[in-house]
Amino acid sequence: MRNVLITGASRGIGAETARYFAKMGDKVIINYNNSETEAKKLEKEINGIAIKADVSNSAEVKRMFEEVGRVDVLINNAGIAGFYMLDTMSDDEWDRMLSTNLSSAFYCSRGVLPQMISRKSGAIVNISSMWGLTGAACEVAYSTAKAGLIGMTKALAKEVGPSGIRVNCVAPGVIDTDMNSGLDKNTIRELCDETPLCRIGTALDVAKAVYYLADENSFITGHILNVSGGLVI
Ligand code: NAD
Repeated sequence: MRNVLITGASRGIGAETARYFAKMGDKVIINYNNSETEAKKLEKEINGIAIKADVSNSAEVKRMFEEVGRVDVLINNAGIAGFYMLDTMSDDEWDRMLSTNLSSAFYCSRGVLPQMISRKSGAIVNISSMWGLTGAACEVAYSTAKAGLIGMTKALAKEVGPSGIRVNCVAPGVIDTDMNSGLDKNTIRELCDETPLCRIGTALDVAKAVYYLADENSFITGHILNVSGGLVI
């Protein structure tokens, strides 16, 4: 049985990915920051292990890795979205977007790599976004962080491939989670119209893509898997 650590797993894509890996027979370590009630509920539901840490904070991530023990698969999923015009964005807003969406993956990957390198096996999957591929107006910081994850995936895949570790990335399109709860019905309809597969995605669509990339026997590394129903091709 593999131990799979998923950051920001109390809800949305993280929670659905946790359910999917558990269903497929893995032990899931559910990282959460504020949503203790949801994380504990999921812990019970999937017989996982919930662990609190703000993954945008280097010290908290270090402490988390002192507690978690063996991790075979790391899924860097925690993230926040935010609409800002760059010319009026504050330093704090920029730092928060970058530390939550990008530095978190650095802290967690650095935390897990020593044990993976010593075992000469392991997989890391980063959750980027289609905006990391194409860029989005009013989401420059988010797009920058998500593009950073794509660069990190490719560079780290080259760095740790010889140690038997694979690093891949999923770039979701529009997925039906709380992150998009602000989108009204008309916007959703327009997005469906623009999408070749005529719908927005589900958290399960992303979970299955992550699972595929985390497969132990795979020859895939440094790959960015577009899960957007064709919205971005
Ligand atoms: P969500 O808001 O439902 O979930 C994000 C999770 O990350 C939450 O559980 C939140 O508590 C957690 N989190 C945030 N900051 C954290 C921190 N500092 N430490 C620990 N946990 C933290 O959104 P989601 O749609 O499930 O998003 C999951 C990932 O997928 C994010 O990285 C997001 O950017 C990415 N993504 C989502 C979409 C979409 O359309 N929903 C599209 C592309 C990419």
